[in-house]
Amino acid sequence: MSSELHLYNTITRKRERFEPMNPPHVGMYVCGPTVYGDAHLGHARSAITFDVVFRYLRHLGYKVRYVRNITDVGHLENDADHGEDKIAKKARLEQLEPMEVVQFYKDRYHRDMDALNVLRPSIEPQASGHIIEQIEMTKAILANGWAYETEGNVYFDVEKFSDKFNYGKLSGRKVDELQSNSRDLEGQEGKRSPLDFALWKKASPEHIMRWPSPWGEGFPGWHIECSVMSRKYLGETFDIHGGGLDLLFPHHECEIAQSVGATGKEPVRYWLHNNMITLNGQKMAKSLGNTIMLHEFFNGGNALLEKAYDPMTIRFFILQAHYRSTLDFGNEALQAAEKGFAKLRNASTILGSLKLKWGASTEATDRRISGWADGLKSCMDDDLNTAQTIAVLFDIATYVNALKNSQEKEIPSEAQFQRLGEVYNAYFVDILGLKAGEADSSKATGALDAAMHLLLDMRAKAKANRDFATADSIRNTLKEAGITVMDSKDGSEWAIEG
Ligand code: ZN
Repeated sequence: MSSELHLYNTITRKRERFEPMNPPHVGMYVCGPTVYGDAHLGHARSAITFDVVFRYLRHLGYKVRYVRNITDVGHLENDADHGEDKIAKKARLEQLEPMEVVQFYKDRYHRDMDALNVLRPSIEPQASGHIIEQIEMTKAILANGWAYETEGNVYFDVEKFSDKFNYGKLSGRKVDELQSNSRDLEGQEGKRSPLDFALWKKASPEHIMRWPSPWGEGFPGWHIECSVMSRKYLGETFDIHGGGLDLLFPHHECEIAQSVGATGKEPVRYWLHNNMITLNGQKMAKSLGNTIMLHEFFNGGNALLEKAYDPMTIRFFILQAHYRSTLDFGNEALQAAEKGFAKLRNASTILGSLKLKWGASTEATDRRISGWADGLKSCMDDDLNTAQTIAVLFDIATYVNALKNSQEKEIPSEAQFQRLGEVYNAYFVDILGLKAGEADSSKATGALDAAMHLLLDMRAKAKANRDFATADSIRNTLKEAGITVMDSKDGSEWAIEG
């Protein structure tokens, strides 16, 4: 099995042909959410990026074991080694059991991801369910001499490790530069160097999430869970590891050090990272007061939003950019995405329902359809260029609209039209995961489509006769009914407002 898929590998900084270790099997691990709050737009970008990787690999015929973890312990407030556990803090403030907090936000995360049509992973392990394995890996790293114990804490010895291995090879950071930039060791009990990170932390008396270990009662550090769970379900070396660019350092760098420290093997063959979403050019952060939760997009409940947006508009907006580019969010951009998505969704509907006086099957039409099919595939093979894939879908949509509006000379045969529909929906629905919508597949939509066709025809005739009053009245009445009519040079299009 060979594929033309090329991926940009963060660790080699090169675009490489994707060749899994044991085809057709592919192992993929993606860092999932820390469940102490609702998912925001940044979570959606990472989840949707790797959902498309998962969908495309399956489309190519691979059998993918996709593991995405839930962080429910050990993620401390400052993302390093001190402060309160984020989940424990929430539990304390809300007077809940920590696992109630975890369950609550895990359910809400699933609700938001389902709305975005993000497929569930094959395995969704939780850190708190793998404490024994985290203790075992910590013991192995200690036994190999890459960690030390002090006052009930176990720290990874970055300096010693970097004498033999290249710590920083993923992020491109250099140990000596990191050392001169790091702050003092205040409050980080017994660390030899500020670069060292915790594999195991001693629990203070008020710390609620705690387990017995050879080093006393405590809890695992944040990074170790991903090394442990990826190894447990995918093996010591596996194909793809994904996550947001914000996890590149220290989280993923530490994962490599831990896995190499425990097994002596490189854990990951292809590292993929999606870029961040900004708001008016600024990073989204709770501290800046500009994070927008996903459910707020869906119900319009945030002052930064002009209106509510359909989850598919959010998905389409994210896929319109290549996953390694930054993406700037704004209401204008989202409203443009809404229109673009409506055009593609309408084309999907037309491809499923159009009845024409079909033409004869010609080679020219065959070549045209094959050209689009090859174009779609090569865009996805080119490091998952969803932006270009969408551009090809727009070309097809223009052709399909022209057919529907009797403005196209090249009429396909029915079989050719069906083939075009299959090609289009393989990418639009299956790979990009853009749902055509419940109503679109029903008979009611076909009837609505026919009625709209008739109305827009009447309106076009009224305009041609300079009867603008009738034309405007049709458009305004439709607007009141929640249907927007858009005029373009290829005729009129309509969409039900989301
Ligand atoms: Zn992780």
